[in-house]
Amino acid sequence: MVSTALHEIGVDKLRGVGPSLALKLHKLNLYSVQDLLFHLPLRYIDRTKITAIGGMQPLTEVVIEGEVRASDIVFGGRRSLVCRIQDHSGVVTLRFFHFNQAQQQSLKPGTKLRCFGEVRRGKAGLEMYHPEYQFLDDAKPHALAETLTPIYPATEGVTQPRIRDLCSQALQHLDRHQLPDWLPQELNSSALSYSLTSALRLLHNPPPGTALHLLAEGEHPAQQRLAAEELIAHHLSLLRLRQKVQQQKAPALTPKPAANERFLAQLPFTLTAAQQRVAAEISADISQPIPMLRLVQGDVGSGKTVVAALTAVQAVANGQQAALMAPTEILAEQHRLNFDAWLSPLGIRIAWLTGKLKGKGREVQLAAIADGSAQIIIGTHALFQEGVEFSNLGLTIIDEQHRFGVHQRLTLRKKGSAEGLDKAPSTPHQLIMTATPIPRTLAMSAYADLDCSVIDELPPGRKPIETVVLNELRRNDVIERVRSACANGRQAYWVCTLIEESDVLEAQAAEATADELQLRLSELSVGLIHGRLKPKEKVQIMEAFKAGEIHLLVATTVIEVGVDVPNASLMIIENSERLGLSQLHQLRGRVGRGSESSHCVLLYSAPLSGNGAARLKIMRETNDGFKIAEKDLQIRGPGEVLGTRQTGDMQFRIADLQRDAHLLPEIKRIATALLLNHANHVDPLIARWLGQSEQYAQA
Ligand code: ADP
Ligand code: MG
Repeated sequence: MVSTALHEIGVDKLRGVGPSLALKLHKLNLYSVQDLLFHLPLRYIDRTKITAIGGMQPLTEVVIEGEVRASDIVFGGRRSLVCRIQDHSGVVTLRFFHFNQAQQQSLKPGTKLRCFGEVRRGKAGLEMYHPEYQFLDDAKPHALAETLTPIYPATEGVTQPRIRDLCSQALQHLDRHQLPDWLPQELNSSALSYSLTSALRLLHNPPPGTALHLLAEGEHPAQQRLAAEELIAHHLSLLRLRQKVQQQKAPALTPKPAANERFLAQLPFTLTAAQQRVAAEISADISQPIPMLRLVQGDVGSGKTVVAALTAVQAVANGQQAALMAPTEILAEQHRLNFDAWLSPLGIRIAWLTGKLKGKGREVQLAAIADGSAQIIIGTHALFQEGVEFSNLGLTIIDEQHRFGVHQRLTLRKKGSAEGLDKAPSTPHQLIMTATPIPRTLAMSAYADLDCSVIDELPPGRKPIETVVLNELRRNDVIERVRSACANGRQAYWVCTLIEESDVLEAQAAEATADELQLRLSELSVGLIHGRLKPKEKVQIMEAFKAGEIHLLVATTVIEVGVDVPNASLMIIENSERLGLSQLHQLRGRVGRGSESSHCVLLYSAPLSGNGAARLKIMRETNDGFKIAEKDLQIRGPGEVLGTRQTGDMQFRIADLQRDAHLLPEIKRIATALLLNHANHVDPLIARWLGQSEQYAQA
């Protein structure tokens, strides 16, 4: 065995790879022989047998053999080379849109071919577009494939036969060189029944008789072995991140019972047992000189904000600043109103910063943040943009709507007082609050760098929201229902949604709906709120709604998070079939906040897709955000559930969080064991799977 490591052998060392091919391979992120080994087939096809042309089925991939009958260039529509092939059982058309003269001449009548490709239905019978083909020569028999043929992720200029050849060269290198297995046998895990090399060999070159259906589902033990390794690498990268953060210093924000008491005394309610438990967990964390990394989960309306405020009070009582970042302007505003009401009586000074705040107003706020006269700073992501300097930031609270990924959390951490005026650079404590619960599997993987607290109880007196699902054709009945609810002193939301993510169109649609409803409900006062309004206008409208001056508030999904008007007990959501479950749950959570029983009407336009119907059924059946989150994951998959930004963090090469969820407890165990007993395996393992993702290295 030669001791060169496979990641040190460049792809240009392989037969047939010149500079231009090397560049194309780099585009596929293939730099070394090791990269090729981990470049696994997307799927497999069976080329071990020849199908009779007369027996071909559309949309299947088959090998055929036959003789060229005719070969012509056809000019109608797109210019193409059309070639008719015949065997004893039938005729099929091969169609090439890209071809050259030499190719045309080589396909002259009488030539014998073996072709492989997908069968399509054409105008005049079955066709194959751009099949792979080889010339048959009666003198030399051409062997058929003996194993299943892998289909690799490819790119322009790197054909399947080419990449197959490169991968088989890479496998030959595997015989002669080292590929360290970073997951030692003694870990003793059923997920690791294959060794690394045997798994790779099987997947590049599945022997006859390999269970194709397992391979197709990604459930073959060889695939599972690699999926497990990949998940372990991701998990380790997050743990490593956490370790790095925890090696930094944080201000010890010790409990200050007096401040605590004063805060609680002026609240109009007492904390639930769950809120008290979570507040105590956080308080214990931030009293340590190590940065806290904690996630607070709780259903919509479980009262996360007040727990955040209590934490901020502890920071302020220790002479440190606390920053609260919300995902939207309107939610930041809500938080500001709440914090103002709760904290101004205690003499705590609050600053406010959003992207829309400009000019003099902005300068005043920036100055207060920089000189420390602002103790709590509330805003949007504008808080962490350039030009914002904190005096002594000790605590960052992120109220997220599944919108901030690992990378963004990292930038926030860096914004600690290290950049402020503090002499001893330190990292702020970090508290993250999720808007709706995150499914357990996702929390275990996407948030493995965080501790987790769960507020698993709603404030007393909440009545479950009753949800009905109605065809849009019943709109008139729904309008009458709004009329009678408002006549009885209640208030209502009417939420307009659009498929396009366009502020302008959405605002227009909401405007038209508001006009229509005002016309129909002339005795009511109908308000309108959408993302295009100026921040001041939004605040005025929300205040008028809170004060009961507006009976029916027509809104876009801007009200999805945070809005809190307990007297509103009826919500209509138009085109509800277009929204994800979490978003619907979040929207619906705007009602059910008072003592009246609340209702939610989900309007849909027929016909409903199977998925759409299933989603709305779940909404009707449960109010439990944790259950809804699990269903959402099943229906939409991890990328969608975590939100677009986070998908980048959670893109796996082989693993699939849903399919491989059962591996997660084992992943966690192995990752911990590696850190403990094989610390020197951790970095190479992360590098193998996360490669250039440098951000993990520089927490
Ligand atoms: P979420 O967890 O969805 O962010 P909020 O923090 O907005 O929920 O709280 C929802 C509502 O419940 C707010 O009006 C808040 O003042 C109120 N609230 C919070 N905690 C309690 C409690 N212990 N008892 C009564 N009401 C509470
Ligand atoms: Mg909230």
